[in-house]
Amino acid sequence: MKKIFLAAAINLIIAGTSLPQNEPMFLNNEKIVEVNMKERNPLTPINEVCPIEGKKIDHKIPYLIFGNKIIGFCCPGCDNAFLKNPKLYEEKLNKKEK
Ligand SMILES: [Zn+2]
Repeated sequence: MKKIFLAAAINLIIAGTSLPQNEPMFLNNEKIVEVNMKERNPLTPINEVCPIEGKKIDHKIPYLIFGNKIIGFCCPGCDNAFLKNPKLYEEKLNKKEK
């Protein structure tokens, strides 16, 4: 009886490791919350106003990911300015959020 159980356990382990890596794995106690498409889109910047020039951001300008934030800019060049002194501009972003 013990042997059968052990064989089953080994089979489970093998089956578990052969799952494709990109398949999401959910724990039994994990809550699944429905979100709308906008919230689901990982490429939505946290800001609506450029931290450099204070103008509305242009979504054609590539976003930057700084820390775990996605930041948008109003024109090319502002992203470079941000990269030169990200901490300063990040503070500006944080102030505007409040
Ligand atoms: Zn700009």
